[in-house]
Amino acid sequence: MISLAQLNVANGARIRTSSGFTVPGMTMTRADKVANLAAIVLPFLATIVAVVLLWDRAVDWIDLGLFAVMYVATGLGITVGFHRLFTHRAFQTTPRVERVLAVLGEMAVEGTIIQWVADHRKHHAFTDREGDPHSPHVDHSGGLRGLWHAHVGWIFHEDLVEDPAMRRISDRFLPVVAASLLLPAAAGFVLHGFTLAGFLTGLLWGGLVRIFFLHHVTWSVNSVCHFAGSRRFDVEDHSTNVAWLALPSLGEAWHHNHHAFPRSAAHGLRRWERALDPSAGVIALMERAGIAWNVVRITPERQAQRVPVAQG
Ligand SMILES: [Zn+2]
Ligand SMILES: [Zn+2]
Repeated sequence: MISLAQLNVANGARIRTSSGFTVPGMTMTRADKVANLAAIVLPFLATIVAVVLLWDRAVDWIDLGLFAVMYVATGLGITVGFHRLFTHRAFQTTPRVERVLAVLGEMAVEGTIIQWVADHRKHHAFTDREGDPHSPHVDHSGGLRGLWHAHVGWIFHEDLVEDPAMRRISDRFLPVVAASLLLPAAAGFVLHGFTLAGFLTGLLWGGLVRIFFLHHVTWSVNSVCHFAGSRRFDVEDHSTNVAWLALPSLGEAWHHNHHAFPRSAAHGLRRWERALDPSAGVIALMERAGIAWNVVRITPERQAQRVPVAQG
C-alpha cells in the first residue's frame, strides 16, 4: 500500500523521514502507478468474489443491507461531517446535527474527529504550497521543524478543541468504535431470527468488511486521486478527478476540483460530476430541510477563472 511518504514523493515534494531529515522527492514510474492501481482495484474485486462465493452460506441480503446502510451512514459521517463540514466549513448546521455527524464519522474508525481534521488540514496546507513552504535551514533543523509542527498541529484543529461537544466525542472514540461494530451485529442477530450466526455475519459484513471497504476507498482517494485521472484547473499540486471512484467515495473522488476549491460543499462541479456526488446531494437536502445554511457554492464564472488559458 502507498504510504503518506510515498504520496508526498508522488507529488514531487520533499519528504521528512522519522529521523527528521528530508529527502528530495521523485516522480512515480509507470510501473509504480500500475502496481498502485492494482493494489487499489484488487480488494474491490476480492470483496465481490467473496460475496458471490459465500452467498447463502455466510452472506445474504440482510448482511448486504447492513453493509450498505452502515457504509453510507458512516461514509457520510466522513465526507459530509469530518471533511466538508468540520475540516473545510463548507456549510453550517445545528449543534445537534454536528454531534450526529461527528459520531457517525468516528464510527468509520479513521481516527478521532480532532485528529482526522488536523491531518486533513495539513494535507491541504502542504499540497497547496508544493515543495517546502518554509525556509531551507528550518528544513534541516529538527528542533525548529518540531516546534513549527507543534505550532501548526495546534492551529489545524483549534476550533474543534475549543468545542466541548467535539472534545467529548473525541475522548469517547473507543466506545464509539465498539458501537460501530455492535450495532450491525445486534441488527443481524434480530433480523436473522435471534441466532448467533446472524450476530456474527452482521458483525462481519456490517462491521468489519464495511470498515475495511470504507478505509480502502478513503485511502484510494488519497492515493489514486494524486497520480491518475483528469485535471481541469490551474492548481499547483498533482491532484486528479477520478470518475470511476466518485460513487463509492460518495463524491470525494472529484479530488482535483476539491483542491481547486477546498471550501466548496459540492466536489462534483459540472452537472454530470455533481450527479456522482451523493455527499453534495445530502447537503442540498439538509439545506432544503432547513438544517444546513451558508452552503458554499462555486459559480461557473469562478470555475472558468481557474481554467488554464492554454486548455481554453
Ligand atoms: Zn489531496
Ligand atoms: Zn479536503
